[in-house]
Amino acid sequence: MSRAVLLNPGPVTLSERVRAALGRGDWCHREPEFAELTRAINQGLADVYPALSGRFEAVTLSGSGTAAVEGMLLGFAPRSGGTLVVSNGVYGERLTAMLEAQGKPCWSTEGSWLDPIDLGRVIALLDAHPEVSHVAAVHHETTTGRLNALDGLGRLCRERGLELLLDAVSSFGAEALDPDALGLAALASTANKCLHAAPGLSFVLARRELWREAPRSPGFYLDLHRYHAQQHTSGYSPFTLAVQTAFALREALVEHAEQGGASARRLRYLARAKRIAATLEAAGVTPLLAEPERSAVLWSWVLPARTSYAELHAALKARGIVIYAGQGSLSERIFRIAHMGELDAELDRVCGALAASLAAT
Ligand SMILES: *Cc1c(COP(=O)(O)O)cnc(C)c1O
Repeated sequence: MSRAVLLNPGPVTLSERVRAALGRGDWCHREPEFAELTRAINQGLADVYPALSGRFEAVTLSGSGTAAVEGMLLGFAPRSGGTLVVSNGVYGERLTAMLEAQGKPCWSTEGSWLDPIDLGRVIALLDAHPEVSHVAAVHHETTTGRLNALDGLGRLCRERGLELLLDAVSSFGAEALDPDALGLAALASTANKCLHAAPGLSFVLARRELWREAPRSPGFYLDLHRYHAQQHTSGYSPFTLAVQTAFALREALVEHAEQGGASARRLRYLARAKRIAATLEAAGVTPLLAEPERSAVLWSWVLPARTSYAELHAALKARGIVIYAGQGSLSERIFRIAHMGELDAELDRVCGALAASLAAT
């Protein structure tokens, strides 16, 4: 069997050049060449979106995307006043859980997983809680594959002078992002989703001046202001970074730029999505969300009545393809297919395996 093709929402199938970078050698993280690599990665992360470059500064840490989100909330969500969480999926609910764990005042829209952001509900909560100074939201809600429409929310943040903290873990590097339209203060993301690097490193980008203010909570490992103070001077980090993943992330950032950046990556994902959709729809499978609501990164599909997720997963796994289950109440209802990673050469095989597996269940 050729290598497994990963259609789960990260970690992704790596390109040969990124996989090769993992084997670049054994480096000490306290030597100047690694400090230089860290600075290049942080610069490369800000350069992924021209509108962030020069105005937002990145810190990179060892840990999965959740570590970056938690660090972002520790550093930037207020301890008094409050944060409004806009939630319509697992990851929005996690924002609330993290703020509660940090003992920070927060209110959530508690939206249904199947519905778009309810701006009326956001406005009602903001009116009821004038002490709120920050909004936390998820850009691409991976639970369903919904690209949350942030334009209305962003306008509201700007009108009311609210700072937006964004979980962009499964959108950064592919979906469009306009920090000025959003009133963006900071975002969190990870190496191993749309950037196509290996798991192990994640990062937060925040407006330059926010790093110069005191952190909002006294974290220790996740005190990202401390990372910023070191990574943006000496280039060293307070704790050991995942060295080999850093090689891969640097290579993946170069590859991302060479391939045309975020807008090109989004179009590539969409082309893959459409080919996979043609196969699934021919087999009678229907999408969970209407097309304008979907991200380019991942689409959710309703399981045919006759087919269990376990059966479909096993039939595909036997053909070298890994798909992803739904979460919570969607676990028996949908399956998810992500379009990230090095997939183009495998798409025929993917579509063939999907058709054969669905016919066999
Ligand atoms: C993947 C993901 C995360 C973080 O997941 P990790 O397993 O910690 O990398 C957070 N938010 C969203 C929207 C995600 O898709």
